[in-house]
Amino acid sequence: MNLRHAWIDFRLLFGKRYTAEKCGHDTRRSGRIHAFDTYRSKQMPLNMNGTADWCLDCIGKMTIRCAWCGNPIFIADPITLYVPNKPDELPEYAVRYGDDPVSVVGCMLMSCADTSADRSGFWMPGDDGKGRVARVPSPFEIMLATGKAQVVEDVGSIKEAVASARRAEEFLRGA
Ligand SMILES: [Zn+2]
Ligand SMILES: [Zn+2]
Repeated sequence: MNLRHAWIDFRLLFGKRYTAEKCGHDTRRSGRIHAFDTYRSKQMPLNMNGTADWCLDCIGKMTIRCAWCGNPIFIADPITLYVPNKPDELPEYAVRYGDDPVSVVGCMLMSCADTSADRSGFWMPGDDGKGRVARVPSPFEIMLATGKAQVVEDVGSIKEAVASARRAEEFLRGA
């Protein structure tokens, strides 16, 4: 590859702009987003039509704070859903999930998650422009259901989470 080609490839990767389908804003596919004094680099997955669903600004606005440590949880971050002993004592920004029992969205930092086996979902864009919990069975839940120990290679990988849930489903169906 000569330099000229390298430059063209670079432009294709980073210069291309999209009109985000769900919010209608003009956006690049990758860039930095900012929320709660933290920056994070993001590359948005493209949807079926080959464009982005949301712009980087809207993705940034969907950031929430961990119920336990207050650190930001960005879109596509893995999350825990622990049940608090005293829900009323949690900070106001804590995001609740479920009613009975109430669990709250927490981050996967070592100080907040007991183990990567507690990864219970991902923080994902909802159609209403707010983030939402995309639930996946945690490695711990899969272990309880199948009786098989689970190895987590990458706790932040949605692909791996979905694949191991599918394997567990097939195993349980065959059993
Ligand atoms: Zn937008
Ligand atoms: Zn946390």
